[in-house]
Amino acid sequence: MPVTSVFPRLEALLPRVQKPVQYVGGEVNAVTKDWDAAAVRWALLYPDAYEVGAPNQGMQILYEVLNEADGVLAERAYAVWPDLEALMREHGVPQFTVDGHRPVGEFDLLGVSFSTELGYTNLLTCLDLAGIPLHAKDRDVTHPVVLAGGHAAFNPEPIADFIDAAVLGDGEEAVLLVTALVRDWKAAGRPGGRTGLLDALARTGSVYVPARYDVRYLPDGRIAAVTPTAADIPSRVAKHTLVDLDAWPYPRAPLVPLAETVHERMSVEIFRGCTRGCRFCQAGMITRPVRERSMATVAQIVDNGLRRTGYEEVGLLSLSSADHSEIGELARGLADRYEGTETALSLPSTRVDAFNVDLAGELSRGGRRSGLTFAPEGGSERIRQVINKMVTEEDLIRTVTAAYGAGWRQVKLYFMCGLPTETDADVLQIAELAQRVIEAGRQAAGTRDIRCTVSIGGFVPKPHTPFQWAAQLGHEQTDARLAALRDAIRSDRRYGRAIGFRYHDGRPGIVEGLLSRGDRRVGRVIENAWRAGGRFDGWSEHFSFDRWMTAAAQAFADEPVDVDWYTVRERGRDEVLPWDHLDAGLDKQWLWEDWQAAVAGGEVGDCRWTPCYDCGVCDTMGTQIEVGPSGRPLLPLSVRPAGVGLADAQPR
Ligand code: SF4
Repeated sequence: MPVTSVFPRLEALLPRVQKPVQYVGGEVNAVTKDWDAAAVRWALLYPDAYEVGAPNQGMQILYEVLNEADGVLAERAYAVWPDLEALMREHGVPQFTVDGHRPVGEFDLLGVSFSTELGYTNLLTCLDLAGIPLHAKDRDVTHPVVLAGGHAAFNPEPIADFIDAAVLGDGEEAVLLVTALVRDWKAAGRPGGRTGLLDALARTGSVYVPARYDVRYLPDGRIAAVTPTAADIPSRVAKHTLVDLDAWPYPRAPLVPLAETVHERMSVEIFRGCTRGCRFCQAGMITRPVRERSMATVAQIVDNGLRRTGYEEVGLLSLSSADHSEIGELARGLADRYEGTETALSLPSTRVDAFNVDLAGELSRGGRRSGLTFAPEGGSERIRQVINKMVTEEDLIRTVTAAYGAGWRQVKLYFMCGLPTETDADVLQIAELAQRVIEAGRQAAGTRDIRCTVSIGGFVPKPHTPFQWAAQLGHEQTDARLAALRDAIRSDRRYGRAIGFRYHDGRPGIVEGLLSRGDRRVGRVIENAWRAGGRFDGWSEHFSFDRWMTAAAQAFADEPVDVDWYTVRERGRDEVLPWDHLDAGLDKQWLWEDWQAAVAGGEVGDCRWTPCYDCGVCDTMGTQIEVGPSGRPLLPLSVRPAGVGLADAQPR
C-alpha cells in the first residue's frame, strides 16, 4: 500500500517555524524512489539539526549506497527544532523524512548515525514523534528496526533499551548485509516475527542486538559479566572494516543542502583510520588500520562531485589529512587541475608535524588564504608525551614561523584541559606557548599585526582508547584551570592582545563523559532528561546541566552508582567495562599497557612507518595497513612535471 506524504499537513506549519527550508527536501542529487517497488525501506536519521546533519559524509554515503541497490529505498530524516516539534505534536504530524515526507514509522529500518552521545535525547524525540515505542521491548512487527551506527555506537549500552541493534565500524557493506537479511526475512513471510529477525541479525556476530545479552552487576555497582542469552549468539560482536576504499568511491552524487549548513563544501575522504596512536583519540583507535584512497580515485570523486554539485570548495577529509602518503602530489595535482577556476582546496585536519608551507601554499593557490589550525592538544611537553601527541614545542614554533613568514596572519591552536596526570602548571604552559608563537610570528612576518587564537575544551575519556580507564577531571577543576589560563593570557601586556582565547564550560563534558562510558543503567538518565525537556544537548543554548543532574539523581536513587562513579572515577585493570563485548579489534591487554606507558610518559610511533607494535587490529580483523604510492593516476591531475616542489610534504 502506498504510504502518504505528510507534506500537505507539514506545509501548513512551516510559516510558523524558524528556517522552514530545512524541512522541504528536494536538494540537488536527492532521491525519491517508488515506495511499492522497494523490498526494503530505510529511514536514515541524523539526530541533530539539518544544518549539522545534511553535510554529514557518513549519512550521504549510506544514502547513496542503499539507493543504488536494487529494490532498496533510503530517505533522510533530521531532528526537528523544538518549535516544529511542538506544532507537530499539536497537529498530529509524525516524524518524517525530508525526501518523500513519509512517516518514519512506516519504514522497515530506522538507521541512526551518532557522531556524539549528546544526540541521544534527539533519538527519543524522533521515536516518540514517529509513534515508535521508546523501548525496544515494546515494539512489534509493525515497527521499524531501530539500528544505531557511527562512532558513539562503539558503546551503545546507554541507549541499549531504545535501540534494537547497533553496527560497529564502516557502514557501506554493513547496511547491505542488514538489508539482505531483512529482505530474506520479509520474503519468507517474516518467520518468528520481530524476534526471528533480531535473532537472525544477532547470530551474524557483526550486528549487536543488546536484548540478546544479559548484564549482571556486582554489589558495588561494577559489571560482573555480559553474556549472550542463547548458545547460538556470539559472545562478542566485531566491527566492520572496509579494506579497499577505492572499491567504494562515494559519494558519487553529493547532496547540496538547501539551507545554510556547517560546511558549505564538497568533502572527499582521502583515507580512513589513523595509526598515530594519540591516546585520547577514539576516532583514531576505532577506525584502525589506515586505508588510503589512491590519488586516482580521489581525483575522480572530486571531478565528478564538482560537476554534479557546483561547489567551489573541496575539503580533503580524514583524521589527519596531511598524513596521506601522496598528499603533496595530490594537492599539487588538484591545484593545477582547478587553477583559474573558483575552486578552493582545504585540509580540514592537519597535524603540526605533517604541515608543510609549500603544501599550504598549493591549497591556497585558488586565492583564499584562511587561518591555519593546529592541534598540539597538550600545553606542556610532558603532557604531550602522556597523550602520545609527538609534537615538540620546537616543531610548533618552526611550523608557525614558516606559516607567518609565508604570509599567514592568523593561527589557531587547539588544546584540551583535564588530560590524565595533568596539573595546573601543564595548562598554564599554554599561555607561554602562545606567547612564543606570537613572538616567533612577529619576527618572521616583520610586523606586529599577527594573531594566535587558543581554543581549549575539556577532555572526555572514551571507550576503546588507552584512556578508557582514566578519571575524568571534575567540571569545577576544569573551569578553575581554564580561568587561571585566561587570566595568565589576558594579564600579559606584551602579547595578551594578540592572543584570542576560547574555552568551553566544563559541565557539558561531564554529561558527555557519563554517556560515553556509561552502561545500561544510564538509559534511565537519558529518558528522564528527555522527559524533562532535554533536546539538542550538543547546543549550549539548549543544554541544561541541572536537568541532567536531576535526571541522574532520580535514575540512580536505588543504585550503588552516581555521576561521579561514571566520570571522575579511575577504573581498575580487571573491571569489566560496559563495551568489552564489543570488538573494535584493539587488544585490551595492549590498551592497558599503553595506558601504563602513558602514565610513565612512554611513546609509541606511527605504525605506518615504524614496525607494528601489535595493537591487535590487523590480526583480529584480518586487515592490513593500505598506503600508497598507488602509481595509478587516471586523470590528468597535474600539468607540471612530477616531483617539483612538495617533496617535503611526505610524512617522515
Ligand atoms: S596491528 Fe600493528 S600494523 Fe596494525 S594497526 Fe595495530 S600497530 Fe598498526
